[in-house]
Amino acid sequence: MTTALNALHALNVARAGDTYTWPAGGTSRPRSDAFPGLLAWLAIEQNGICPACGDALGMELLNVNHLISQGKRQGGYVEGNIYLGHRECNELDAELFGMVVPVESLARPDMVATTYPTRATMLALAPSKGRKGDRRTARLARMAG
Ligand SMILES: [Zn+2]
Repeated sequence: MTTALNALHALNVARAGDTYTWPAGGTSRPRSDAFPGLLAWLAIEQNGICPACGDALGMELLNVNHLISQGKRQGGYVEGNIYLGHRECNELDAELFGMVVPVESLARPDMVATTYPTRATMLALAPSKGRKGDRRTARLARMAG
């Protein structure tokens, strides 16, 4: 798994290019309707672990951390390049390594997903606003008697 991540990492360095602008399309942050689903998917894939430090993802501030930084146009949302991690770990990554975080620096590289979810998968995992609305309606209906 680590070998697969190393190969992807090298590929992603090439994809990002010297300016870290990433190729257009398919590497941008998912739209806000799907983004919560991406966070849920990453948490599941990572068994609730932050790959950088190897500790559990708790109630601390979390980030989507990039191994190879996102560019000006917000790219880098591709397989093997993102993980859900502590904001503190993200800041340390930037401080120590700048634009490219080496795989070897991760405590648990085996927890970085080497695949990327489809938009449909993200939407399926995203909490639905409709469902929240339904709960509200049901509760109000109960109160109304
Ligand atoms: Zn961490």
